[in-house]
Amino acid sequence: MSPPSPLTRFAPAPTGYLHLGHVANAIFVWGIGRARGAKVLLRIEDHDRGRCRPEYEAALLEDLDWLGFTPDLGSIARLRAGPSDFRQSDRGEVYLAALEELGARQQVYGCDCSRRDLTPSPPLRPGEGEPEEPVETRYPGRCRNRGLEAGPGRGLRVVLPPREVHFTDGRLGDQVQCPSEQCGDLLIRDRLGNWTYQFAVTVDDFRQGVDLVIRGEDLLPSTGRQIQLAAMLGRVEAAQWFHHPLILKPSGEKLSKANRDTAIRELREQGIGPTEVLGLAAHGVGLIDDARPVGVAEIADWFQV
Ligand code: GLU
Repeated sequence: MSPPSPLTRFAPAPTGYLHLGHVANAIFVWGIGRARGAKVLLRIEDHDRGRCRPEYEAALLEDLDWLGFTPDLGSIARLRAGPSDFRQSDRGEVYLAALEELGARQQVYGCDCSRRDLTPSPPLRPGEGEPEEPVETRYPGRCRNRGLEAGPGRGLRVVLPPREVHFTDGRLGDQVQCPSEQCGDLLIRDRLGNWTYQFAVTVDDFRQGVDLVIRGEDLLPSTGRQIQLAAMLGRVEAAQWFHHPLILKPSGEKLSKANRDTAIRELREQGIGPTEVLGLAAHGVGLIDDARPVGVAEIADWFQV
């Protein structure tokens, strides 16, 4: 029997319009995925109910379709039609079940800390320069032994035992992370009742059988904690990881959804076609030398080994 084909995913959060950074991610996901014979799952990551909007989801599906990226699971038509296993806001029961399982194995506790109660990670040593990204906040464990139950206005955390997590990134090589030092006990649900990114993405990648995660290198620091949390949820074999470069603005900053100039909507309105958009994104991320038009079909050729 031949081994099952790998499963990767494209997992945008509908907190804004699709932009060139997403397109670059899609190029890597579909390109590497197709080159390795993987299937691609589309998952709408709208766990943050305050920031996500149905109109952004609709626009995102439309832009993805226009660009020619076709998922094998989580079809655009089915997502448009209504509730779906491939939309996080429709998966509350899956997260509740996972929380119960986690609680049976690990210490999960209520937490009433606000951002102000959290301490920043150790400062840089002299001479190390300013970090480009805001320094990550490590949860100091203030509520760990307070015996708070879950309840309105309270978040939920899980104790992360001190552990070094080793993994090999397909592009960046061997990595070691210690999540208990980086971020401390992980937030599972926030004080407003939203499932957090770390929890939802870990549960979904595990439960949906995703075994090849291809995403931007800005998410590299999250990988160790997602591997550790997945193991705590009972995942036996960790996924494989590939963290790709990001499109940078000329200033060196990464793109965000606030960069309206790179929203696919705006480019479309300027009369730019899908192959040109793909070319811009592929060039922005260093896959091709100049921004020539590119068809989705040729992307997999770039990643053949
Ligand atoms: N939903 C995340 C985002 O839009 C990506 C999640 C992931 O690739 O792990 O940034």
